[in-house]
Amino acid sequence: MAVLVTGGGGYIGSHMVWALIDAGEEVVVIDRLSTGFRWAIAPEARFYEGDIADQDLMRRIFSENNVDAIIHFAGSIVVPESVADPLGYYENNTVKSRALIASAVEAGIPHFVFSSTAAVYGTPKVLEPVTEDLPLAPESPYGSSKLMTEIMLRDTANAHDFTYTALRYFNVAGADPKGRSGQSSALATHLIKVACATALGKRESMNVFGTDYPTPDGTCVRDYIHVWDLAQAHLMALKRMRAGGGSLAANCGYGRGFSVLEVLEAVKKVNGSDFPVTFAERRPGDPAMIVANPGLAKRELGWVPQYDDLEGIISSALDWERHLMRKNSY
Ligand code: UDP
Repeated sequence: MAVLVTGGGGYIGSHMVWALIDAGEEVVVIDRLSTGFRWAIAPEARFYEGDIADQDLMRRIFSENNVDAIIHFAGSIVVPESVADPLGYYENNTVKSRALIASAVEAGIPHFVFSSTAAVYGTPKVLEPVTEDLPLAPESPYGSSKLMTEIMLRDTANAHDFTYTALRYFNVAGADPKGRSGQSSALATHLIKVACATALGKRESMNVFGTDYPTPDGTCVRDYIHVWDLAQAHLMALKRMRAGGGSLAANCGYGRGFSVLEVLEAVKKVNGSDFPVTFAERRPGDPAMIVANPGLAKRELGWVPQYDDLEGIISSALDWERHLMRKNSY
């Protein structure tokens, strides 16, 4: 049996491919290489360059490989960009996911893991870490585009012989502990990536978006999770579905939050350097604070995070950033 990874040339997808290979799985990747990289895809994986909404290509992939599960990462991921280009986000994340799900149903693929997001919750009305039964109220087109895919998966699972796991990622950072992949996009906008690039002098300075949020230090609070722990959660979701477990939507976070300022302090400490920071306006679409309650993933998937350590996450992100500098690919 093979696992098809969509977006396997991207940040999280490339880690997933390595995690599957480490676990002895046969891996097939589809990526149109719009933001991902061919070199980031493990050579052991069979690669198809193309679009997940190309139903002829999908038919070919399913006829040439014995796929029993799809892990779907391909999509757009930047909250403020989604505010500026909502239709682009609904196209990439919702419309194309619909086409992929249709191809999966047509080919009789029984299992599907979907990269969903904490953004489906918007700003929770409660101060505690969020559980999956809270109201789903995305505040950005990005969050809505992902929630719509969750809804399509739910309804598809009700109508067909099809089981899905939607993993709601909190803030993913860090790099493969074996150094085989990391966050490689020069255009990446995520906090830890930008802060590491600034600490290493690849950027002159960076912004803190919003200092007047109703949080302890006025900056947004997020639950930062190591990409390798996240990849392991997908492996466990796959195992659970193959063993007959039903559909599930589960949070992937550690259950504790750090503010933007705390993250920047940690980056400065781990790198042993200071760097300039500009206090800027709030960024559109950002909820003030969101932290996961990971209880369901732990209970249902048997997920045991190994890398719950902000400085360790930052240290691995910095190592990858140095690696990119040596490769001169940035
Ligand atoms: N952020 C920031 N400066 C940056 C990038 C991000 O202040 O250069 C803030 C952002 O406004 C948010 C938090 O860091 O409050 C996490 O943002 P990120 O883009 O990493 O992830 P998101 O939570 O949007 O998925």
